[in-house]
Amino acid sequence: MAKMFIAGEGADSVTGQTYEVRNPATGEVVDTVPKGNEQDVRSAVDAAQAAFDEWSHTPAEERARLLFKAAALVDAERKNLAELLCREQGKPVQEAAGEMEHFHHGIEFYAGLASKVRGSQVPLPAKNAYGMVIRKPLGVCGAIVPWNFPITLMGTKVGPALAAGNTIVVKPASTTPLTTIRVIELMNQAGLPKGVLSVVTGPGGVVGEELLQNPKVRRIAFTGESATGKHVASVACGDFKRVTLELGGSDPMIVCDDADVQKAVTGAMVGRFWNAGLACLAVKRLFVFDKVYDEFVGSLVSKVARYEVGDGMTRPEKPKIRMGPLHTAAQRDEIEDQVKDAIDRGAKVLLGGARPEGDQYARGNFYLPTILENVAEDSRAVTEETFGPLLPVFRVTSLDEAIEKANRSIYGLGSSIWTKNLDNIETAVDRIEAGNVWVNSLHYGYDELPFGGVKASGFGREHGPEALEYYLEPKGVVITR
Ligand code: NDP
Repeated sequence: MAKMFIAGEGADSVTGQTYEVRNPATGEVVDTVPKGNEQDVRSAVDAAQAAFDEWSHTPAEERARLLFKAAALVDAERKNLAELLCREQGKPVQEAAGEMEHFHHGIEFYAGLASKVRGSQVPLPAKNAYGMVIRKPLGVCGAIVPWNFPITLMGTKVGPALAAGNTIVVKPASTTPLTTIRVIELMNQAGLPKGVLSVVTGPGGVVGEELLQNPKVRRIAFTGESATGKHVASVACGDFKRVTLELGGSDPMIVCDDADVQKAVTGAMVGRFWNAGLACLAVKRLFVFDKVYDEFVGSLVSKVARYEVGDGMTRPEKPKIRMGPLHTAAQRDEIEDQVKDAIDRGAKVLLGGARPEGDQYARGNFYLPTILENVAEDSRAVTEETFGPLLPVFRVTSLDEAIEKANRSIYGLGSSIWTKNLDNIETAVDRIEAGNVWVNSLHYGYDELPFGGVKASGFGREHGPEALEYYLEPKGVVITR
């Protein structure tokens, strides 16, 4: 049985209760974990508060050294961790290894920044006085993480929090706690003081809620559904906690008539079907110019047909590519409902639109990669976030039309435009309502750039030096001689 990691050591819940974590491809139990409660969170938060003074006053270079060491210890176990992530989350083991690599890069990125935090000196009108802005860590942070990218989305919170001198308690999604626990255990082995980094497993409504309500927690970093995000903000902001929310998205991808069509087809394929489409940052509405529509869509359908759904631990024969199951049965139900709704409103299925047939699929949450056209604007597949392998394609005649339709969504996370025309690029970069725009490239969250949303996709930024700002508070100082 896996244990939580609190105050520098493995811990069971005070409740003595546990629950099973199941493999979404096979239904088999991967392991059991403690079903934590409020008291477990309080223990982790108290330990984090006790550790804050020492950690925040540890020289920044020493914090950096420990974070580099922590990243290396995790990286040394990449293969085993990727397999564990595959079994608890469902993603193909190669994708899981990519997630571990991204985590490693992100922790190293923030380790490097730990010693680069700067303040400023400010001239003042008063005589014999000057001002300074110094930047202080906030204290105990809470990280609430979803199940789609459990490790990278934990790293985007833990990395900047620890680099800036804060301490942190992580609450993983109930269905993906196992790799997180092991990663946090390994990071602690680097020599982090006890209590600096803990993990508590258990239900969001109990463990997550206590993090939101506990007055000793000064900062909440949340990634997940927009409705949960609204709740998180209302509870945590009520207590004046600093909050960042990375929520859902419905990213538009615009393919102009001068685009490199084959490059764009690959972008759409990977951008939508990576991680079985279980990504906030993913191509969820595809707008293709009329002139290249038939060529583009024909090529897209034949390329996406190369995906073979199955257990992520096995590889299909080339040229097939593995796509894992959906993470939960409820998530598959939702995608099925969205597809049915679109078809009822006149959509045409170009690919997929069903579960795969065969005994080997009976115990997993499998669904075929699905491409739809003629999708009505009021379909759920357009108005809601589609969290799975479902891609609606639209024919457009101009950039104005594409951008106007792209901006109809309540979301504003990622977006992309595929064109060689500089005017088109500048217009899209300026007018698309989103936190990020990719030009002729895949939706990918680089550690170097700020990442986050506008509108119902949330507020605040992860990644980039910008993320550090959300873990530091400026303090104005006046020195008078
Ligand atoms: P949630 O928003 O419910 O879960 C995200 C995290 O929040 C989990 O750790 C969850 O814990 C926790 N949580 C749940 N309720 C509370 C609460 N009251 N207080 C504090 N924390 C809480 O998303 P789901 O995992 O249920 O996924 C549902 C939908 O969210 C998906 O269909 C998808 O549309 C969207 N989603 C978006 C993601 C994104 O990156 N933008 C990522 C994942 C999902 P627990 O697991 O224990 O419930």
